[in-house]
Amino acid sequence: EAKNNGRNCYAFYHPRLTQKAAHHLTRERELHRALINNEFLLHFQPQFSLLNREITGVEALIRWNHPKKGLLTPAEIIPVAETNKLIIEIGNWILTEACRQLHQWRMEGLVNLRMAVNVSIRQLADKNLQKFIASLLHQYSLPAHLLELEITESCLQNELIYISCLEQLKQLGILITIDDFGTGYSCLSSLKNLPIHRLKIDQSFVKGIPQDKNDCAIATTILVLAQKLNLEVTAEGIETFDQTVFLVNQGCHELQGYLFSKPVVPGKIPGLIREFPDQLKNIKL
Ligand code: C2E
Ligand code: MG
Ligand code: MG
Ligand code: MG
Repeated sequence: EAKNNGRNCYAFYHPRLTQKAAHHLTRERELHRALINNEFLLHFQPQFSLLNREITGVEALIRWNHPKKGLLTPAEIIPVAETNKLIIEIGNWILTEACRQLHQWRMEGLVNLRMAVNVSIRQLADKNLQKFIASLLHQYSLPAHLLELEITESCLQNELIYISCLEQLKQLGILITIDDFGTGYSCLSSLKNLPIHRLKIDQSFVKGIPQDKNDCAIATTILVLAQKLNLEVTAEGIETFDQTVFLVNQGCHELQGYLFSKPVVPGKIPGLIREFPDQLKNIKL
């Protein structure tokens, strides 16, 4: 989107675009105020491990409790925040809150639960990120391997810039995942060069499984590739039992989607983990 804006710079004098720019500024100010007023919150979506037959992780997803508009999604937050350094401040809040929540769950007995946090490319470029995460792990006594960062493929385009950031993060012992895999421009060489632990098959490919032969082929190919490269795979956007059966048969390790659970408020997670439906625990391989 940034690229499009760049190309269309001359059009800024168009009244509609001026209006758009004004709206952008208003939203920026609103986001800043929201951070100060503590209007952001995290919902968590369970990730189901086929090996353990249980929920082994959760993904933190930001929400905005807007005083007038109610609960807003990341689409209302992240794109605007990403255009300036607000994403660093909001991103640091997200990381802190995710770590605090994981610590609380560990105190409640969920000691093996893993926390996945989405991180924007601008956060990765932040010189202080590694130190910041190290201090959070220390403050909340978290084993590093229970924290996972989800980055999108756009980060891999400038591989040389980000490889050192990722290497530094990897040194902490945390896990790095490529989110929305297959939708960006990643070249396969970045899978070879970057310290990556997991791929997430994008939901756009999961959608057509098992009817759409192309979606099935793409998902299967990602799984074979991951297996050969020794990477784990999570499929996201699972809504049907048929998708589950197909992906399980192709060797997928973890599943995430509405079939298992929508993203929920933190208070619901311990109950979901304890009372995970038996029919899902008994899926035949
Ligand atoms: P994502 O990381 O790929 O997250 C998955 C999105 O798919 C979430 O939407 C989730 O609610 C939705 N989803 C999960 N299961 C299903 C399903 O079975 N069916 C369908 N149709 N959708 C499903 P959400 O919460 O609106 O997040 C959208 C995107 O916003 C995320 O995509 C991520 O890129 C970004 N985002 C969310 N939270 C954060 C955050 O804390 N920081 C950053 N930087 N980005 C975030
Ligand atoms: Mg994600
Ligand atoms: Mg995704
Ligand atoms: Mg996505």
